[in-house]
Amino acid sequence: MKKAIIIGSGIAGLAAALRLKKKGYQVSVFEKNDYAGGKLHAIELGKYRFDLGPSLFTLPHLIDELHQLFPDVEVDFNYIKKKTACHYFWEDGTSFEAPADLENFAVKAAEIFDEKQRTLSKYLQNSKMKYESTKSLFLEKSLHKSKTYLSKQTLKAILKIPFLGINNTLDQENKNFSNPKLNQLFNRYATYNGSSPYLTPGIMSMIPYLELGLGTYYPQGGMHRISQSLFELAQKVGVEFRFRESVKKINHSNNKVTGVTTEKGTHDADIVLCNMDVFPTYRQLLQDIKAPEKILKQERSSSALIFYWGIKKSFPQLDLHNILFSENYKAEFEAIFNNKSLYEDPTVYINITSKQSPQDAPKGCENWFVMINTPGDYGQDWEKLVIKAKKNILSKIKRCLNIDVEELIDVEYVLTPQGIEKNTSSYRGALYGAASNNKFAAFLRHPNFNKTIGNLYHVGGSVHPGGGIPLCLLSAKITADLIPNTHA
Ligand code: FAD
Repeated sequence: MKKAIIIGSGIAGLAAALRLKKKGYQVSVFEKNDYAGGKLHAIELGKYRFDLGPSLFTLPHLIDELHQLFPDVEVDFNYIKKKTACHYFWEDGTSFEAPADLENFAVKAAEIFDEKQRTLSKYLQNSKMKYESTKSLFLEKSLHKSKTYLSKQTLKAILKIPFLGINNTLDQENKNFSNPKLNQLFNRYATYNGSSPYLTPGIMSMIPYLELGLGTYYPQGGMHRISQSLFELAQKVGVEFRFRESVKKINHSNNKVTGVTTEKGTHDADIVLCNMDVFPTYRQLLQDIKAPEKILKQERSSSALIFYWGIKKSFPQLDLHNILFSENYKAEFEAIFNNKSLYEDPTVYINITSKQSPQDAPKGCENWFVMINTPGDYGQDWEKLVIKAKKNILSKIKRCLNIDVEELIDVEYVLTPQGIEKNTSSYRGALYGAASNNKFAAFLRHPNFNKTIGNLYHVGGSVHPGGGIPLCLLSAKITADLIPNTHA
């Protein structure tokens, strides 16, 4: 039987393991940590449970597809569709419970923001058009194989390019609303891939359709169930996992991969799929080949500072996803991307899974995942920044929600960009690999295959088509499609 080795058990590594198993490979996953899932991990602090990384779940069919590869194997994985996408709050007392449905969103937003319903519906229809006409080119195929450019679908997508807003920034594309709060609300979608709305191209206005049109979901038991269920499935179908075994080198001979060397020994393989971020992959595991410097020099996506707070009270005005907006969004993004610093009036995201899974917090309490967007780690003094950010966040919560939260904090854990890099090897602690702060970003990501070493492939957030759970899952699918079936 042909052997495949996967380096890393992030969501893309797990998806790739299942897809290669289905193709008839003997699959071994080497993981430096003692758990599977990478960024999709969870922690317990006293009686509180927290998802450590992602909190927003879209396109759940991509997970279903993996479970359906092995229809006879039972693994518990269920999710619900949310009626509300997010609760938005501003300091002047405006709040908006955004429905996760295009029509209802347009009706409600028109009322709250005194905007024409027609303008909103047109914007959302445009978002749908952009997503549907380009997904097959940008998200579902390798952009680095000539056959991609020979299909009818690609031709259709190329003909649509003049209407996709790629010559505008997302902010310019969102300027048609008369109320600046709507401009800010739609600008926020740039953060779904770790970019700035003032730099990322207008085509990103397709992202609201993913959430408001195709829906936002919650996995029963929390986000961690996504990675856990795939891990359980992979174990049941015979994928081998070797935890606490960091890969130190990718071995090759005559421009063909031959296996890997870990801290414990050397392992041969017919193919190797690397789920480690491409930057450390070249710098640490492939020191003996010429690295694609142009790709590695690309600007990285934003990172995050997260406070995990057990809160000794519950707040009916909050939902699963809550956003408290900065008064000066542009200054916030300039601080993050230009100055590599934090803004004093940050946009604060509060995720509370105990709203959906009451067992995540003691009775009458809530588990708050409180996150602000930050630059990656460029050597800033994070100890000092954490103290300052906590003060600014507490004050923002007071101004927007009129809650004195500090005295309600029961337990606390803090994750910085440095911590994210330490846990997962993501260069600079970037959440989504390279940023999409220019219109060519989609074409500049690392391909899903290695151009120098045959049978070496790359999956995950730092390669095509990009970061975020759905795109990581698509990277595994695109990659598996490049690899032939093998049956012993
Ligand atoms: P990773 O999760 O980065 O995993 C890589 C794995 O490889 C790790 O387990 C690591 O230990 C292992 N590894 C690395 N080097 C080696 C080595 N040499 N040997 C062996 N093993 C190695 N996405 C969303 O869709 N929705 C969200 O709401 C969202 N929010 C986020 C919030 C936070 C705080 C973070 C951190 C991320 C968020 N993301 C979100 C992004 C999403 O989590 C990532 O894009 C995705 O999980 C990345 O998966 P991956 O497969 O690329 O690998």
